Amino acid sequence: MSDALGHGEAQRNAATGIAIESGVLQVCAIHEDGIFTGPKNIEDAYKLGSARFKRGDEQLKRLFSSQQELTDCIQEVVTMREADVCGSCDSPGNS
Ligand SMILES: [Zn+2]
Repeated sequence: MSDALGHGEAQRNAATGIAIESGVLQVCAIHEDGIFTGPKNIEDAYKLGSARFKRGDEQLKRLFSSQQELTDCIQEVVTMREADVCGSCDSPGNS
């Protein structure tokens, strides 16, 4: 219980990785940490996540107790990042 926050962060990192791999989230070409939503449907990320979970991905099994939990987390990170451009590109003068 003491590492609850760290666990949540690890979950979000894993979910973000899946969303990026599926093309739902995109990493800015200029800013490594600039992540924004791409042209794809969030369903693509759900599908990739559930396929991984069903296949028995070690990391996902360790982080998420159910496929639903993973899906919820993917939804959370994608919703959190919802933007047409990366946050850093969006703020002029902040290079
Ligand atoms: Zn950027």
